[in-house]
Amino acid sequence: MASILLGCIADDFTGATDLANNLVRAGMRTAQTIGVPQAALDADVQAVVVALKSRTIAPADAVAQSLQALRWLQAQGARQIYFKYCSTFDSTAEGNIGPVTEALMDALGTDFTIATPAFPDNKRSVFKGYLFVGDTLLNESGMQNHPLTPMTDANLVRVMQAQTRRPVGLIDYSVVARDAAAVQQRMAELRTQGVGVAVVDAVTNDDLLRLGPALKDLPLVTAGSGVAIGLPQNFGIRPSSQASALPAATGRQAIVSGSCSLATNRQVAAFKATGRPALAIDPIQLASGEDVVATALAWAEQRLADGPVLVYSTAEAGSVKTVQSQLGVAEAGAMVERAIAAIARGLVERGVRQLVVAGGETSGACVQALEITQMQIGPQIDPGVPWCHAHTPVGPVHITLKSGNFGTDDFFTKAFGAL
Ligand code: ADP
Repeated sequence: MASILLGCIADDFTGATDLANNLVRAGMRTAQTIGVPQAALDADVQAVVVALKSRTIAPADAVAQSLQALRWLQAQGARQIYFKYCSTFDSTAEGNIGPVTEALMDALGTDFTIATPAFPDNKRSVFKGYLFVGDTLLNESGMQNHPLTPMTDANLVRVMQAQTRRPVGLIDYSVVARDAAAVQQRMAELRTQGVGVAVVDAVTNDDLLRLGPALKDLPLVTAGSGVAIGLPQNFGIRPSSQASALPAATGRQAIVSGSCSLATNRQVAAFKATGRPALAIDPIQLASGEDVVATALAWAEQRLADGPVLVYSTAEAGSVKTVQSQLGVAEAGAMVERAIAAIARGLVERGVRQLVVAGGETSGACVQALEITQMQIGPQIDPGVPWCHAHTPVGPVHITLKSGNFGTDDFFTKAFGAL
């Protein structure tokens, strides 16, 4: 297996896909792994994104997992390491962005890296070190009320300094607006001042493309998914449809949905409106011990030969609340996830080879039930949602994992057309 160029460590699953998708669009053949693989890479790719679930765990655990990912990526030949975090810089005063960044710097023997969640196309810009979400500062964006990682300060130099031993500096817009050489000169200046981590301004995607070449020789880059659009050029890679090529799609088509977001509710309604078969899963029935999974699979089996079918627990807020008050929030969630995942597995056992999954947590459960450990990233269906190709013990599948609010209303029908 050829060695990889770029090795990425993402602190959550959907963030990993977002990064992988950007790399593919910039021309890099990319695979995503779920956790740190036990074995060597089994795909002919130029970049790998290792998806961890380390955003809100104890800093020491996040560090340990990230270092394990680093060692695996180094064993696959990675020439540069990319630590990917959330575009809203989700972290607490203890971490985990700072501690993981410093642990990776120590392990890589480097005294300098950058940090920026900027991705202007996705409405995340950084100016004078302050992070804007759309038109508002981070701490006025709603993120100040996040249950796990409340972001009450938009100044990323301060936020990063609070969780980092090394001095934190800024490469501000007046530098980034010039060219890569100016950025490199500023990096050299900061380095001589003893700065270990520099927050970087970017307010347009062109800024990120200009930043890319300046990062060529850094062993470690830390960022949201945006910086990735400027890195493949450093390896002589240009955008190309080859990067997203997947094996030809075959087999039956199905959708499973456990997301209750507004967008997913609209997508379920749009699919039903086409007259295609759709079956609702009732959590109360599930809780009463009925074999809802077997019933759903028997229902699907009769219809799969005629085109895509949808099995969903998607419901509107009111009915979700009723279910949660009867069963408990966590219990209802876990029970429905298990059922949808078992249905996904059963569908693949029944010949489904093109599977759409809606819901972030639901996707995690389905990927686990299908025993998927690596996915090759293919063409994008909607921003941030690509088709992927993966091996399961039952056979290879094309799978797409759509987190709640992504995708247009006709996503469930148009997805199959994108393969
Ligand atoms: P999203 O990406 O939209 O947040 P997730 O799959 O991450 O979707 O989360 C949805 C959660 O809601 C899951 O835990 C799922 O099991 C649960 N759920 C799905 N349908 C229902 C329902 N009808 N009632 C209660 N909980 C549900």
